[in-house]
Amino acid sequence: MTARVLVVDDLEPNVKLLEAKLRAEYFDVLTAFSGKEAVELAKSDQPDIILLDVMMPGMDGFEACRLIKDMPETAHIPIVMVTALDQQADRVAGLSAGADDFLTKPVEDLALFARVRSLTRLKVMTDELRMRYATGLNLGVVDQAELLAEDEDEGPPRVLILDDQPSQAERVREILDAEKFEAAVETDPEVAVSRVRAGDFDLVIVNMAIEAIDPLRLCSTIRSFEETRLTPMLAIVRQGDTRRLVRALDIGVNDYLTRPVDRHELSARVATQVRRKRYIDRLRCSFEASLEMAVTDQLTGLYNRRYLASHLTAMFERANWTSQPLSLMVLDLDHFKTINDTHGHDAGDKVLQEFADMIRNSVRAIDLACRFGGEEFLIAMPDTDKKFAAIVAERLREEVARRKVVVNGGRDELSVTVSIGIASTEDGPEDDNPQLLMKRADEALYVAKAGGRNRVIQSEAA
Ligand code: GH3
Ligand code: MG
Ligand code: MG
Repeated sequence: MTARVLVVDDLEPNVKLLEAKLRAEYFDVLTAFSGKEAVELAKSDQPDIILLDVMMPGMDGFEACRLIKDMPETAHIPIVMVTALDQQADRVAGLSAGADDFLTKPVEDLALFARVRSLTRLKVMTDELRMRYATGLNLGVVDQAELLAEDEDEGPPRVLILDDQPSQAERVREILDAEKFEAAVETDPEVAVSRVRAGDFDLVIVNMAIEAIDPLRLCSTIRSFEETRLTPMLAIVRQGDTRRLVRALDIGVNDYLTRPVDRHELSARVATQVRRKRYIDRLRCSFEASLEMAVTDQLTGLYNRRYLASHLTAMFERANWTSQPLSLMVLDLDHFKTINDTHGHDAGDKVLQEFADMIRNSVRAIDLACRFGGEEFLIAMPDTDKKFAAIVAERLREEVARRKVVVNGGRDELSVTVSIGIASTEDGPEDDNPQLLMKRADEALYVAKAGGRNRVIQSEAA
């Protein structure tokens, strides 16, 4: 996978060196020579990852990092800080500025490439979600600020520590505990995977020195299940064990620490992973919410016409290959215009809502009920013959006729009736299709209207 890397350093030879290394691995490279330039390029060129020098005159790396992570349009770009000094304080400062990782100069090639690859892989996935999210933004159903805001309701981050050495695991747990993380330890690698799958953790910490089983395999197993495919993993590795580290990152481990574990670095790295996980969670939630809004009718909460269009074909095909009948009901309120004219539009809305409730109560979970438009509704019933559909329709018609709708704050009480047309795939011609099925139901509805309304009519066999 190739990626666009922005290399930032105030010293030209440093930029040239990293640029040459990355180009040799077929990465696309952009360069900047100051913090200010980095922030601008991040915004205008949207790189996949940024390698950012810490010590620069003017705006230093920490500040540039903070600015990039604070802007909604660049907050998702992973940042790796590159520092000359392997200073613990620098690492922690960088991580709390929002950096995703640290590399020490001179940069070790293997670690660099593995890092760039693993962070860009993660970004590709986040980009997909952001794109969908943008659709939600355009539809006007989600808002930008919500996404960056940390949510109080999310509770303390939940971390699971996988380690067969209890004393070391306990030490890590205590550090996290002190930082208000909710941390648990699992020392049996055999049950680790099922516990991770069942637990909805924000992060899993894996000791790469586990002996009972291969820790790399453990990580790749966790990655292979749908529910843990995106669970962040942090590896604890022995200093200098670059080979194992590179493999871990390639398998999908998100971050690592070397032993002995530094308290501040541990909590900073855990916080970074949790922050990103929750950002992704919010992206997915808002996408799901926007998707739901896009297919739901706002007034009644039933599905809308757009949803029907995409699902009726699938229902029709399923009916074909299961040789089970699919029945369709088209419902239209009688003289609805008069209700609006007499009692006002709001009263009309109330009638539509109550009618939708009655529909909801009379269909099964597998039925698809939608507001087709105005005062016209449609119910698609899989595995249902026309006889049974007629029974359901008749029951609904009676209930609508019986029920009084209270409107205008209790001042008016009104009655409404409904006409219903039914068609089934049982009666379809050789070349039947969803459009023809709907047409037959519509024609039956027309007959119901012409025959005096408040009645159920079945389409004639073709
Ligand atoms: P028929 O028995 O032949 O169906 O007569 P009708 O009056 O129900 O049919 P018509 O199609 O003439 O009128 C439908 C009315 O539904 C007209 C429109 O103003 C009203 N309507 C459509 N959508 C809404 C809505 O969302 N809220 C309200 N209150 N009225 C709506
Ligand atoms: Mg009508
Ligand atoms: Mg109508």
